[in-house]
Amino acid sequence: MTKEELWQAVLAQVQFNMSPANFATWFKNTKILDKTGEKVIVSVPNNFSKEWLENKYNKSILKILRDLDQEIKEIKYDIAKTVLETKKEIPQQNVFNENQLDFQEFKINKETNLNPRYIFENFVVGSFNELPHAAAQAICKKPGLVYNPLFVYGGVGLGKTHLIQAIGNEVNKKFPKKRIKYISSEKFISGVVNSIREHNIENFKNDFKKTDVLIIDDIQFLAGKEKTQEEFFHIFNTLYQNNKQMIISSDRLPKAIPSMEERLRSRFEGGMIVDVGIPDIETRIAILKVKTKERKIDLSDEVLEYVAENIQKNIRELEGAINKIAIHKKISNQDIDLNVIKKILKNIILAPQKPINPKKIITIVANFYDLKEKDLFLSTRKKEIVKPRQIAMYLLRDLLKCSFPFIGRKFQGKDHTTTIYACSKISKEIQENETLNEEINIIKQRLYYQS
Ligand code: ADP
Ligand code: MG
Repeated sequence: MTKEELWQAVLAQVQFNMSPANFATWFKNTKILDKTGEKVIVSVPNNFSKEWLENKYNKSILKILRDLDQEIKEIKYDIAKTVLETKKEIPQQNVFNENQLDFQEFKINKETNLNPRYIFENFVVGSFNELPHAAAQAICKKPGLVYNPLFVYGGVGLGKTHLIQAIGNEVNKKFPKKRIKYISSEKFISGVVNSIREHNIENFKNDFKKTDVLIIDDIQFLAGKEKTQEEFFHIFNTLYQNNKQMIISSDRLPKAIPSMEERLRSRFEGGMIVDVGIPDIETRIAILKVKTKERKIDLSDEVLEYVAENIQKNIRELEGAINKIAIHKKISNQDIDLNVIKKILKNIILAPQKPINPKKIITIVANFYDLKEKDLFLSTRKKEIVKPRQIAMYLLRDLLKCSFPFIGRKFQGKDHTTTIYACSKISKEIQENETLNEEINIIKQRLYYQS
C-alpha cells in the first residue's frame, strides 16, 4: 500500500464513525507525509487539528493503521509549513471540500489565490443559477465595464465560490495581463488586523488597489467589523473609480447583512445583484453526472436518481456523496448497488441541514469544547467554562441577533451587562486572536452543517 492509499483507507474508515461535520473539521487537509517502519508522520494543517488528532483520535487512527499494517506503532502529527505563513495561506473557503480525499492536486495560484478547479467548463447551469451565470459570462467579456460590482448571494454550498472564482480563472485566461485577486472575507479581515498591527496597512491596501479584478467571498463576515469595512470602502472606491471589476459573494442580500455600514451597503446595491437558488432534480442529476465523470466512476441512473432525490438543498453535499461513493468503490472493490449506496450515504441523507436555533448553538459549543450542555450554565469562573459560555453568548448575538436580556435569561438569569461584556469581549478577541477566530469559524461551520 502506498502512503496515499493507507491514509485514504484511514479516512474512509473514520468517516463512518463520525458526523460529516466532525470529519471535515479534523481531517481536512491531512495526509501521510512519511512512513518509516513503525512510525507514520501525518501532516495536519494547523495546531488546532494537531491537538485534536493527538488527543482525541490518535487511538482510533492507530488502530485502523495497525489493522492495515501491523508494523506501525506510532503516529506523529506535524503541522504543514505553508499554513503557518499567514500571507501565503491558501484562502480556501471555510468549508471542507471532500475533493481533497481524491488526492487530486489542484494548486492554488499564488498570485491570484484562485483554485484552478473552479471553472465554467465544469459548472452546471440550470434555471437556479442562470442569471448569475449570464452576468458572470458578461463580466468575462468586459471586466469592469458591465456589472460593477457583481453581488452574488445565495445559500451555502450552491456554487457561489465556484462561480466567482470561475470568473477570475476565465479573465485570467483571456486577459493574462490583468491582475486578479481572490480573497475570502475572513482572510481579508485578518489581513487588515495584521497589517494594522505591523503598521503597513497602506501597503496592504495598495496591493488591492492595484488589481483589475477583485473577488471577495462571503462578505457577510464583514458584519460588525468596522475597521475592516472602512478599509474595504477605500479600496472599493479606488477600484470603482478606475473601472476595475469587483465581484462579491454573500449568503444574503446587502440589506440583510447586520451592522454593515450604510455607505458600503449602498455601493453594493449600486451594482448588479443576482441570486443563486436551489437546483431542481434534473439539474441535480446533471451535476452528479459531471462529478462522476470527473472522478471517473460510473453509476447507474437508479443510483444517480436516488442521490439526487435525497440530497436537495446543497451541491456541496451532492459532491460529498459522490466522493464517499468513489472512496468506497476504490477501497472495497464492492459492487455498488442501491443498497450499498443507501448505507454509504446514511449520514448525509439523514442529516439535512437544519436552521440554527439557540439550543443548537449551546449543544454545538458545548460539544466542541467537550463539555456537557449543562456545564455552560454552571455558576463558575473556571476558564474552561467561562470561555465557551462567552462564545455561546456571542454566537447567540452574532448569528441569531438575540437581545442581551434574552441571552442573559438563557444563562440562568445572568445580568444583561454580563452578556454585553461577553459578546464584546469575544468579538474583540476574534480580531486579535487567530486561534480563537479559527475555533469560532469551525463552530460556525458545524452550526450550519451538523444536524
Ligand atoms: P458556496 O460558495 O455557495 O457555498 P461552492 O461554490 O463552494 O458553494 O460549491 C460547493 C461545491 O459544489 C463545490 O465543490 C462546487 O464545485 C460544486 N458546485 C456548486 N455549484 C455547481 C454547479 N453549478 N456545477 C457544478 N458544481 C457545482
Ligand atoms: Mg463559498
